[in-house]
Amino acid sequence: MKGMIDKKEKVKAPNCFICMDTGIIIYPELTQFGYMADKVARCTCPKGNQYIYEGKDCKQKSIYRIPLITEIMDPVEIARNNYKEWYERNKNREGF
Ligand SMILES: [Zn+2]
Repeated sequence: MKGMIDKKEKVKAPNCFICMDTGIIIYPELTQFGYMADKVARCTCPKGNQYIYEGKDCKQKSIYRIPLITEIMDPVEIARNNYKEWYERNKNREGF
């Protein structure tokens, strides 16, 4: 049919602009050894729930855990930056 929009062509916004639906956020952190290392935090959205890991609660206890992003930084700031990037990438696409 003429004038119909192909749904597949439509730009889809992610459900979560904090993690872009990956569930995790990778951020750089200065280690005690003086260099930057990539660390992982989990998101507050349902996708992030699958990354809940608390080493001390595991059968094989460890000191490792995946912190919630809100413990590390302001997720609003991350979402704002991700949205800006996403918008710039998609604004010229059809169906936006
Ligand atoms: Zn998320």
